[in-house]
Amino acid sequence: MRKPVIAGNWKMYKTIEETVDFVERIKPVAAQASHCEVIVAPPFTALAAAAAAARGSKVLVSAQNCHWDKEGAHTGEVSTLMLRNAGCTHVIIGHSERRQEWGETDEQVNKKVKAALAAGLTPIVCVGETLAQREIGETEENLERQFVGGLAGLTPVDFSRIIIAYEPVWAIGTGRTATPEMAAEAHHFLRGLAGRQFGEREAQGIRILYGGSVKPDNVGALMAQEEIDGALVGGASLKVDSFTALVNYPRG
Ligand code: PEP
Repeated sequence: MRKPVIAGNWKMYKTIEETVDFVERIKPVAAQASHCEVIVAPPFTALAAAAAAARGSKVLVSAQNCHWDKEGAHTGEVSTLMLRNAGCTHVIIGHSERRQEWGETDEQVNKKVKAALAAGLTPIVCVGETLAQREIGETEENLERQFVGGLAGLTPVDFSRIIIAYEPVWAIGTGRTATPEMAAEAHHFLRGLAGRQFGEREAQGIRILYGGSVKPDNVGALMAQEEIDGALVGGASLKVDSFTALVNYPRG
C-alpha cells in the first residue's frame, strides 16, 4: 500500500558532470526497481542537468532546500517555482543540517512545505531529535513539536501529498544508526500524530523514511520493519555501487 522510497541526499557534493554521469548509470537500476521510487537530490547547480538526464526514466530529482516566496529580493535563495522549472519533483525541507547550521525554524519549515505543495512539488519533511534530547527523554516531545509546527495548517489532502523523513540528528553522518526497533518506534509515534492531526486513512498512507547512516549492510534490517517506508541517505548515496545496493535492498 505504501510504496517505498530510496532517496539520496547528496548535500554539497558533485559537479554537473558527476551528476549527469551518476544519473545515467542509475537509470537502468531504477528501471528494474519496480518495488520502490528512486530519488536523487543534487545541489542546486546540478538540478536542471540531473532532471534533463533523468527525463523519461524512473529517476526522480529533488532539491535540498527552497524559499517560500515565489520570487523576491532574497540573495542566494531559490523558489519552489524555480525548482519545478528546473525539473524537480521533490524538495527536502527542514533537514537537520539546515536547522543546525542556518537556524531554520519550524515556522520556516511550514512556509516552505506550503510553498512546495503550491508549486506541485512533493516535500520530504525532515524531523529528528538530537542526542541530548534523546538522553533526557525528550525525543517524542521534540518530534511532536517539529511535526505540529512544520505541518500546521495543512489539510488532510495536503498531508497525503508529503513524505516524512525521521532522521535522528545523532545518527546523521556519524556511522551510528538507530536500531531498526528504535526507528520503528519513532515512526509509529509519528504515524500516531498523523492519525490525530489528519485522520487514520492519511496516517496509514503517509510514507515515513528513516535517515541516519543507512548503508547497504543495514538497509535490509531497517526496511524489514513494517513502519519504515524507505530511506533518506547521505554518504552511502554518493557512489553508484552503494546507491544501487540500497535501491535493491534485501526483500522478503
Ligand atoms: C542525510 O543527509 O539525510 C543522512 C541521513 O546522511 P547519512 O546517511 O550520511 O547519515
